[in-house]
Amino acid sequence: MKSYFTVIVFLYSCFWIPAQMLTAQSHDPEHHDRIIEFPDIPGLKTLKCDLHMHTVFSDGNVWPGIRVQEAIRDGLDVISITDHLEYQPHGADLPHPDRNRSYQLAVEAARNTDLIVLNGAEITRSMPPGHFNAIFLEDANALHQEDVFEVFREAKRQGAFVFWNHPHWTSQKPDGVAALTDMHVKLLEEDLFHGIEIYNGSTYSDEALDIALQHDLTLLGTSDVHGLIDWEYLPQEGGHRPVTLAFATEKSPNALKEAFVKKQTVIWFHNTLVGDEAFLTPLIEQSLVVTRQPGAMVETLLIENHSDADYILQNQSRFTFHNHAGVFVLKAHETTTVRVKTLINPDNFQLTFKVLNAFTSSDSHPVITLYL
Ligand code: ZN
Repeated sequence: MKSYFTVIVFLYSCFWIPAQMLTAQSHDPEHHDRIIEFPDIPGLKTLKCDLHMHTVFSDGNVWPGIRVQEAIRDGLDVISITDHLEYQPHGADLPHPDRNRSYQLAVEAARNTDLIVLNGAEITRSMPPGHFNAIFLEDANALHQEDVFEVFREAKRQGAFVFWNHPHWTSQKPDGVAALTDMHVKLLEEDLFHGIEIYNGSTYSDEALDIALQHDLTLLGTSDVHGLIDWEYLPQEGGHRPVTLAFATEKSPNALKEAFVKKQTVIWFHNTLVGDEAFLTPLIEQSLVVTRQPGAMVETLLIENHSDADYILQNQSRFTFHNHAGVFVLKAHETTTVRVKTLINPDNFQLTFKVLNAFTSSDSHPVITLYL
């Protein structure tokens, strides 16, 4: 036993590998589950939302209770069941006229859990205007009417939050380029929708992000799942569904609606985050815990990343690193060692990085600062 320790100590001293690095970099099985994890930001709770999904009550393939079970397994805080108002291909087998029914069944399934279920519906029209989700509805049945402007006005009367679904969907926009039509401009002038999906299912749209920034719309990212989350996103193999992270004062429907109205969202899909710098920067900074090991002229930092995202950092500060080039990755739920050539031995200093897999617009990145 003694000689074993001697060898270990000898190896450490030979190669200057901090013990913390060896232990922290080994995978922690507890953090490789399917629960989607991001920290709260100062003053606001980070709520994980999927606000677009279907059941057998429209063209989905599952009962509403399955959507609830999937959401709980993924650690979501909020879902909205958004079955098509005008499209019920299972209608011959399931001739249910009540457009609130899938929501009611989901609420029943979520009883005694922390999951918030919102009443929603998908307004399903040809382009223009295409498809829109109305969430926070009181009565989805009242939206089932002919005149599309009257449908939007009814949603507004009910206090709904309305967003444009997949504006880049090639079935309705063959070139895949999201673009406003005259009808969309009229809807915006009448304040009839407030958000836009920049990510839907497996498709992303830079142009939808441009429209959001130009017209002050809330960013949404959704699964629009029709089958099973397990089959479409493979969470059991490390995948995840796209989600909207909403930053709210508390976990309640009212606080959530306020967060959407105030455009306090960040979208998470693949290994990419998109949102306003005011939320992206604190979200990334709060994900990281840095421990210093001061050295004479080269200081060792252990940076723990407690989020699900691998952050791709590009150095923006005057210091260079002893073990990395100017771009390196902080892997999710791991600790990365960064050796900084501080040259002197400062009491405090700061490092700044662009985060290359996070976007504040189609071609810009947030900048984070580590205060040391
Ligand atoms: Zn849909």
